[in-house]
Amino acid sequence: MITLETPTYYSATKKYNLSFPTLEQDVDADVVVIGGGFSGINTALELAEKGITNIVVLEARYLGFGGTGRNGGQIMAGIGHDLEKIKQQVGDEGLRQIFEISELGAGIIKDRIAKYSIDADFCHGYGYMGFNARQEKTLRAWEKDFKSINSKDEIRFMAGSEVKQIIGSDAYSSALLHMGGGHVHSLNLLLGEAKALAGHGVRIFEHSPALEVSYGERITVRTGRGSVRAAKLLWACDSFLNKLEPELHKTTVNTYAFQLMTEPLSDEMINRISPIRGAYSDIRPVIDYYRVTNENRLLFGAATPFVEHIPLDLKAWNRNLMLKIFPYLKDVKIDLAWGGPMATGANLFPQIGTLSGRPNAFYVQGYAGFGVTPSHIICKVLAEGMSEGSSRYDLISSVKHAQILGKDHIRPLLLTAGKSLHQLSGYFNGRR
Ligand SMILES: Cc1cc2nc3c(=O)[nH]c(=O)nc-3n(C[C@H](O)[C@H](O)[C@H](O)COP(=O)(O)OP(=O)(O)OC[C@H]3O[C@@H](n4cnc5c(N)ncnc54)[C@H](O)[C@@H]3O)c2cc1C
Repeated sequence: MITLETPTYYSATKKYNLSFPTLEQDVDADVVVIGGGFSGINTALELAEKGITNIVVLEARYLGFGGTGRNGGQIMAGIGHDLEKIKQQVGDEGLRQIFEISELGAGIIKDRIAKYSIDADFCHGYGYMGFNARQEKTLRAWEKDFKSINSKDEIRFMAGSEVKQIIGSDAYSSALLHMGGGHVHSLNLLLGEAKALAGHGVRIFEHSPALEVSYGERITVRTGRGSVRAAKLLWACDSFLNKLEPELHKTTVNTYAFQLMTEPLSDEMINRISPIRGAYSDIRPVIDYYRVTNENRLLFGAATPFVEHIPLDLKAWNRNLMLKIFPYLKDVKIDLAWGGPMATGANLFPQIGTLSGRPNAFYVQGYAGFGVTPSHIICKVLAEGMSEGSSRYDLISSVKHAQILGKDHIRPLLLTAGKSLHQLSGYFNGRR
């Protein structure tokens, strides 16, 4: 059974021994950030790099407690899952700009790692995998799309026996290799970024949950033992918001994903699974996603495809899915399995902006399970909005997000209906 305290691959291989104090006084700042995951830390780091360093970050538990410390570490291309839905709002030109913004992608993560010497096992190589002819057609179209916005990274469509050049599985008939994508140790990346942030003089507090927020020209955030008064606020709690800000609570619903970690495997086995030592996902509406790690383990993840529920035995549930792709791993031991919630909006697109009538209260949330690279992109844009302003902030914050009615009462039912619709639409958009 899942608990949020279960150890993860990330907690077991953490390289930074960082800890920050609890807030025990009343302090003033230019900006207060609530949430110590990629969103909170990245926005603060972007602001600090612009010279705004009088920032306080409040984290309820410890940095990386949320999705940032429990994800697949997959560095995929783009932002959002279904840009056609967004096109209706932003038009062709807006969509072109969103593609351009997405292209910042892994470059931001790589620059961070280089600039601050972060030890986060960044590895290039991503395979988007197809099971059937419909998906093959989609991957061929993606190849053209990817190449039209990116000329520097290797992007190559493969079919039939060529697929084996990048993966040791008979499950697939086509693949799109994207060497610009890959994978990263997301907790070490976050902690490296937090260390850099502290190096800029930003104050970070752990075990300091925001309990109450009073809005106004200066905003006051109260914790159990202290408070922060600031000119600007950023809500960055994603799926852990827990109703604290009702306006933000209304536009997302939490859904769950689960992961396993195998025992360390031999070099031969890892080369058989992944000759490129890369990351992979298929392109179905609800994907299997997996990657190898620096320690020669396989991390395999998935979500329930139709009915929203939390499997009772996560190791067994995930192992079954893994064996469909790699049957020869049947004797391999599963060392850990864990999972976590992901805040998801109706259009599956990240949400940034300011609260109604509160121009100094910003927010970011709703990556819909696709937040490692997108949080780095989106928070760069958000930091522009929180400082000098920018047209790309105006564009992304202009995307409207529907209220999800009934989510507090019939969440599993709503998500089951949503997943079923999503699966059905997959037949029409070439993803099933
Ligand atoms: C199992 C799983 C697998 C995933 N796999 C991938 C993947 O492979 N690739 C990918 O791109 N994305 C993946 N994601 C999604 C990605 O991890 C998230 O989108 C991203 O980490 C969100 O970052 P965040 O900072 O917005 O939120 P979080 O990392 O969740 O951080 C929010 C933080 O806010 C804190 N908080 C909440 N309330 C308060 C409060 N009142 N006061 C102070 N702090 C508070 C929480 O403790 C938490 O630390 C996955 C997610 C899950 C759960």
